[in-house]
Amino acid sequence: QTILVTGANSYVASHIIKLALDKGYYVRGTVRSERSTAGVREKFASYGDKLEFAIVPDITKPELFEAAFANSTKPITGVMNVASPFVMDVEDNKRDLLDPAIGGAIAVLEAIKSYGTNVRRLVNTSSFACMLDINAGARPGYTYTEADWNPMSYEEASTAPGPVAYCASKALAEKAIWDWVAKEKPSFEVVVMNPPWVFGPHIGGIKDMAHLNESTHALYSVMGKTEIPPLDFGGFVDARTLAEAHVAAFEKEGIDGERFLVGQHFDYQSVVDAVRAEVPELKDKMPVGTPGKIPDVYSLDGSKAERVLGIKYISLAQSMKDSYLQFVEAGSA
Ligand code: NDP
Repeated sequence: QTILVTGANSYVASHIIKLALDKGYYVRGTVRSERSTAGVREKFASYGDKLEFAIVPDITKPELFEAAFANSTKPITGVMNVASPFVMDVEDNKRDLLDPAIGGAIAVLEAIKSYGTNVRRLVNTSSFACMLDINAGARPGYTYTEADWNPMSYEEASTAPGPVAYCASKALAEKAIWDWVAKEKPSFEVVVMNPPWVFGPHIGGIKDMAHLNESTHALYSVMGKTEIPPLDFGGFVDARTLAEAHVAAFEKEGIDGERFLVGQHFDYQSVVDAVRAEVPELKDKMPVGTPGKIPDVYSLDGSKAERVLGIKYISLAQSMKDSYLQFVEAGSA
């Protein structure tokens, strides 16, 4: 069987690709340009022709996915839709975030409908941002679950600050997916992953410290600070756990139409405490704050993913150790 993974050059996708290949699947990755295949090919050179690529220059145009579904060595039975703009600093919220996120999510559904005759299930990489009500703030005592929705409208998001608009882009894309499914009643199944911050090592190490993805950049930027950064998202999942969740979400039966909050508590005080304990060479580069003092913030209930998908969460301490050791290896710490 082949699994089609969009945004194959992304941090999150590389973990999904590795796990899928290790489990014996063939993988076809889509990227925007031939140039983007180089790093991915290098990471997975040892897997030979088990990994192939298709170029989809514009993810919002279903017809451009036709080649991605054609002539695969083994039938494409699953799609992991990972590609979506994850940038917080944008010029135009509609053009740079909302439209590609929503348009890309719908185009993948349309493309599977038109060309993915063997596709059994789509696993869409959504986000905890789809659940979080940003305007409700830290919300002590509240527990977010799969029942929650980020309430922001397209209009509000179009003029909101970048991080708020990013969250809305993910939420509006996921809502568009469920609306499409309700209307089209497709022959394939749809399952959605809702991870908060994704941390943990990069496959093959970090090659380019100047172009880190947003979540890795958030961790890296804690180094050298004198104060603990303010809370942004109160949850995280290690990329390796998230990959496990994606593959399990493709394999498990009886979960059509489900969304899964895949994550656990996160705060920056816990990050610095873990790094100071686990990575001695960085001890003096991290702010101290008040060790052990967990901020009063909402909780996340990620237990459905454990229970139904059978995943096991990697701890924050382990994830931080593995993340920050890569900064040391990359010579940037
Ligand atoms: P990356 O920045 O590493 O990857 C983003 C991917 O999406 C790249 O492949 C990128 O391609 C593609 N992409 C972005 N914008 C467009 C566009 N307009 N058209 C086509 N492709 C586009 O991010 P992550 O690996 O961190 O994120 C991957 C997914 O996981 C995203 O859907 C993100 O929302 C989601 N996610 C990530 C979290 C995290 O903390 N990292 C948390 C929750 C969800 P290109 O290189 O060509 O730009």
